[in-house]
Amino acid sequence: MGGGAADAGRSAGDESEAGHRIDDTHTLPPVDQPAVQRVCPHCARISYEDGRRCPYCGRSFRRRSNLGAIAAMLAVSVAVVLGGVAVMFTIAGREVDEQLDREVERVERELDRNFEGIQRDVREELDRRLPEP
Ligand SMILES: [Zn+2]
Repeated sequence: MGGGAADAGRSAGDESEAGHRIDDTHTLPPVDQPAVQRVCPHCARISYEDGRRCPYCGRSFRRRSNLGAIAAMLAVSVAVVLGGVAVMFTIAGREVDEQLDREVERVERELDRNFEGIQRDVREELDRRLPEP
């Protein structure tokens, strides 16, 4: 019983070793990453070097034009958002204007009424104080 189990374990180990050998044959030799073809943004020449600078003109590969494009895209999106907000404000402002107009009309009517009442009060008060002719 125990011996059979040990045999099974040993055979399993053999299998794993065989697998390891297969892995060895399968393993590829270390390969450097293929040279990246890059176009210098300054002199527009293609280079396969990995450096940060163009081997032809010695300037950095960092593209300002990329940043510029991102900035432009940001500006465009900001403009779009601002435009949308402006449209929303215009629409909302129109409604607010209408509400304000109604409110102002109502207040003006009340003020007129109050003013008329005050005028009447003052006239009555004056009438009362003035000596009767
Ligand atoms: Zn260059």
